Amino acid sequence: VGLQPVGDSAGWFQRVPLARTQGRRPLAVIIDAAADTFPAGSRVNDVNVMGMLRGSDPALRDEFIVVGAHFDHVGIREHPSGDSIFNGADDDASGVIALIEIARVLRAGPAPKRSVLFVAFTGEEVGLLGTNYYLAHPVVPLESTVAQLQIEMIGRPDSLAGGPGRAWLTGYERSTMGDMLAASGVPIVADPRPAERFFYRSDNIAFAYLGIPAHTLSTFGLHTDYHQPSDDVSRIDFEHMTAVIESAALAVRLLADGPRPVWHPGGRPVRGQ
Ligand SMILES: [Zn+2]
Repeated sequence: VGLQPVGDSAGWFQRVPLARTQGRRPLAVIIDAAADTFPAGSRVNDVNVMGMLRGSDPALRDEFIVVGAHFDHVGIREHPSGDSIFNGADDDASGVIALIEIARVLRAGPAPKRSVLFVAFTGEEVGLLGTNYYLAHPVVPLESTVAQLQIEMIGRPDSLAGGPGRAWLTGYERSTMGDMLAASGVPIVADPRPAERFFYRSDNIAFAYLGIPAHTLSTFGLHTDYHQPSDDVSRIDFEHMTAVIESAALAVRLLADGPRPVWHPGGRPVRGQ
């Protein structure tokens, strides 16, 4: 789709070293020196997949918007239905498709002012492993990363967001991002289910803890196929998803060209709260 490779050795992949653990979580991300404390047989090589669309504005092209989705899901498990393959069509193949299509849409139009980094993260479902590795090994400076937008589960409409083509943004009230996007025509509302704490449940939160305004765009309406083998492509509403991707592309263009979002007072999350 016309992006530049910015991963390891100027490729499309950032190697993410993982290790199998005995703890509550099956995998841990190995960051730097800890590698040799894990036995060789326990190590697993994984990757984040990334590409960059360089900005055109001399003053803004060295600022970055990070657009993310996660390409992992929960894997293969025994299930009473007999279907052991958890495809994760909505969670989060829909977000990965959005990532690719947003890149294509932006590439087809005028170059954005800021640069846009697209990352398909690994290991979200087992503790944001790919994101945590990325943040320890960013390919663009974190201090120049002005916003992060995560795309999660946009494959089916959510009536509480207003139905087909409409989405919600986690942590909407925490920063200027939501109002800025909505005022410019992006059909989004605040997360209608704050009790679910979705703001804290995807890759955006790791960026947000570092102070980068970071939110997740979603249309998940608590369908019962969540983390089930029945989260299949046959249940995706493509008309809805296409509309949301078009809105998400507009959102990314606004973030790349417009004022940089800032936290409202008290909006930036603090670890442990
Ligand atoms: Zn997800």
